[in-house]
Amino acid sequence: MRCHAGAVDPQTIRIPDSILPADGRFGCGPSKVRGGQIDAIVAGATSIMGTSHRKPQVKTLVGSIRSGLTELFSLPDGWEIVLGNGGTTIFWDAATFGLVDRRSQHLVFGEFSSKFAEACASAPHLEQPSIIESAAGEHPAPVATGGVDLYGLTHNETSTGVAMRPVRPVGADDGALVAVDATSAAGGLRWSPNDVDVYYFAPQKCFAADGGLWLAACSPAATERIERIAATDRWRPASLDLGIALTNSRSNQTYNTPAVATLIMLDAQVQWMNANGGLEWCAARSDSSAAIMYGWAEQRDWATPFVADRAKRSSVVATIDLADSIDANLVSSVLRANGVLDTDSYRKLGRNQLRVGMFPAIDPADIEALTRCIDLVVESLAA
Ligand SMILES: *Cc1c(COP(=O)(O)O)cnc(C)c1O
Repeated sequence: MRCHAGAVDPQTIRIPDSILPADGRFGCGPSKVRGGQIDAIVAGATSIMGTSHRKPQVKTLVGSIRSGLTELFSLPDGWEIVLGNGGTTIFWDAATFGLVDRRSQHLVFGEFSSKFAEACASAPHLEQPSIIESAAGEHPAPVATGGVDLYGLTHNETSTGVAMRPVRPVGADDGALVAVDATSAAGGLRWSPNDVDVYYFAPQKCFAADGGLWLAACSPAATERIERIAATDRWRPASLDLGIALTNSRSNQTYNTPAVATLIMLDAQVQWMNANGGLEWCAARSDSSAAIMYGWAEQRDWATPFVADRAKRSSVVATIDLADSIDANLVSSVLRANGVLDTDSYRKLGRNQLRVGMFPAIDPADIEALTRCIDLVVESLAA
């Protein structure tokens, strides 16, 4: 058990306004929503909100999201943005029905990357997946394996703060797909469509919107796979049918009713990203935040970046271990009491750690301010 040795009552610690960040939201999802995105909802308050998703207003919005993402990711001709309701977790289930042919391979290196593996392992119509696991704080590499028709990678493991650049395994079977969970990476980390067939995500991380929607950038090989499986008699619920999702997406719709406010916020964020310089600008902004955050931790003898290998450190989610003498949960709760929110570690990881979202919406100056706030809290607790 960690003891709070000092005499200071944590409840009384006040961070002066002069060092507080302008915006205190550092969560890893849902994450900071920019004011401009809320303004966009207000601007559409009577023209888009509360109107039919089968009519031009909302369809135009979905079309704008699809073309905006195509621009942001510099997708080659033939790629398509497919979307549906339910978020990434529901996409995994849909993928077990409509994307994996027979056998998948999964790189498991944290809570999120384990979930798609579990979904495939329990699908009665699929063979047992190949699972390659590494300890938290590391990531494995895919291994080309005969009979594997889908390689499941994770661009950013949000539970541990490990990022891995998607790679196509050399020697994989012809036609094998690379499907990347980019839920917390998309819009903040660099990637190349050459290395990927399906790049899927949800809008509540780098896109600074709400959850409940999944989006997938799909290569021509991926849409062919979806259409081929959809033409078979493999049973699947309609709500998890990627063939139905693909058809609806092509007409800028979803199979069932979407949350319109999420679409508005997502569109506003994609436009903001593209107007500022696209994915490179976004990634560079997160890089600046990461340099501040990890640089700060390396200068403190009581803080250490959890991910030892610098090349694997995420620039959108930082995980910082604190010395045993400092209770990270207490630090987070004092920050919270001062309006600096959601710096808690991922609970199931079970470390004495702070976890900080550094998505493009978050101003690097606020990350700098956060480090000063943590210093102040730690000093006050020790006093
Ligand atoms: C947040 C997250 C998910 C879960 O997304 P939901 O939309 O809540 O299902 C999956 N994978 C990663 C990498 C995430 O960061």
